[in-house]
Amino acid sequence: MSDALRLHTTTSQPNGSAWPRRRVLQTGLAVGPAAWLAGCANVVGQAKPHVVVVGGGWGGLGAVRALAREQVAAITLIEPNERFMSCPMSGHYVAGAGSLDELLHSYQRVEALPGVQRLRARAQAIERDRREVVLDGGQRVRYDALVLSPGIEYMEDSLPGFAQAREALPVGFRAFEHQAVRAQVERFLAQGGTFVMSAPKPPYRCPPAPYERAMLIAEQVKKRGVRGKIVFLDANPAPTPAPIAQPILGALRAYADVIDYRPNVELQAVDAGRRALQTSAGELRYDHANLVLPMRAHALVRQAGLGQRWADVLLPSFQAKADAHIFVIGDAQGSPQPKSGQVAFGQGRAVGEEIARRLRGEAAPAPKGEVELPLGICWAATSHDEAINVNVVTTMVAGEAPKLRFTVDPKPSARSGTAAWSWARGIWRAMLG
Ligand SMILES: Cc1cc2nc3c(=O)[nH]c(=O)nc-3n(C[C@H](O)[C@H](O)[C@H](O)COP(=O)(O)OP(=O)(O)OC[C@H]3O[C@@H](n4cnc5c(N)ncnc54)[C@H](O)[C@@H]3O)c2cc1C
Repeated sequence: MSDALRLHTTTSQPNGSAWPRRRVLQTGLAVGPAAWLAGCANVVGQAKPHVVVVGGGWGGLGAVRALAREQVAAITLIEPNERFMSCPMSGHYVAGAGSLDELLHSYQRVEALPGVQRLRARAQAIERDRREVVLDGGQRVRYDALVLSPGIEYMEDSLPGFAQAREALPVGFRAFEHQAVRAQVERFLAQGGTFVMSAPKPPYRCPPAPYERAMLIAEQVKKRGVRGKIVFLDANPAPTPAPIAQPILGALRAYADVIDYRPNVELQAVDAGRRALQTSAGELRYDHANLVLPMRAHALVRQAGLGQRWADVLLPSFQAKADAHIFVIGDAQGSPQPKSGQVAFGQGRAVGEEIARRLRGEAAPAPKGEVELPLGICWAATSHDEAINVNVVTTMVAGEAPKLRFTVDPKPSARSGTAAWSWARGIWRAMLG
């Protein structure tokens, strides 16, 4: 048995202490003020281990749902936003062809799941030696197991001038930023001119999404007869990953009169005052811009010492290499799986089931050779009605690197356009319904 698999299946930690099977929940005792105590009253005192999940996005919700179903732990979800907002399908809204309501969903049903407590707060730090999450108000939440799915942050330091221009240049690759990008797109559609968009080098969240966004905006340019063009600067020689390159390039050709696609161009600096971009192909002036920056794991993960750019995890368990009590899932971890919502949700479910298995003290199932990691399903809308479907199957044998197998529509179709919405509504229901 390889080291990776042995760690996946054992209940002892690298530091030697045993994984707790049963311990008294300390949520309410640890968090502090009376309001928190009152909020936690329904779970305080239950002799169940305490699993804390940070981030109520795609990965976090997968973990919460699986853990709630297993009923072996008290679960605290830490998520600051009142409601969930989806990034998948946001391109239609951003381009001015969809509604924000479709992307917004209530957490009420998740909060009503047995054993689940939601703290509407922001985690500020993880104190691993004390097994505590420190919240933005200074309160502390103790955990027996911690699932981190806080998503990504932009590497603003990779583009000099960006930090000063942040307000004027919303990226829109995280929930609740879509409105600002939509406002920017509306200005472009009203005023015309040059709209510069970009795609960074991978790995970043949802590789087809920058191209999708450009095509959906270009469709509106054509429909509304806007006197404007989109200059798309791709840091890569072609859309990535390789299996999507030809289908996306083919779809971009349908917008050749609007989108000027320029491969191999890297952003070097931005001067928002002059509306000028320094690039590896020289200076470029813009009227409007939507720059998608390189990404890394949320600061919480990196500051906890769980990885440099992305969290280092063991596969297939997603247990942090640095800490056996922590699992990192979704876009914040550095496995070669695509950074997609479907994958994050699947990882969350798998990790929730794995934690429950360990808490029940059950032996790990005997390794069967090849293991399948959660499936990836992604959509690149090429117009309001058509899309390209991208499916990614990941398999691995313990001790070896995972293998990714892509199935990609060769060209856009209305069938995939409709299927994308069915997929989205189905998975939103599975997460939040
Ligand atoms: C435009 C676009 C289109 C996409 N299309 C698709 C698609 O078609 N299919 C697909 O599968 N994926 C798609 N994705 C990718 C998908 O959105 C991400 O892969 C997914 O959101 C990753 O899930 P996550 O749990 O890692 O992070 P998130 O879903 O971002 O969740 C992170 C959560 O953590 C919370 N959080 C952040 N900081 C803190 C903190 N300090 N304390 C507590 N909570 C915190 C946030 O509020 C958020 O709710 C798309 C992404 C974009 C941007």
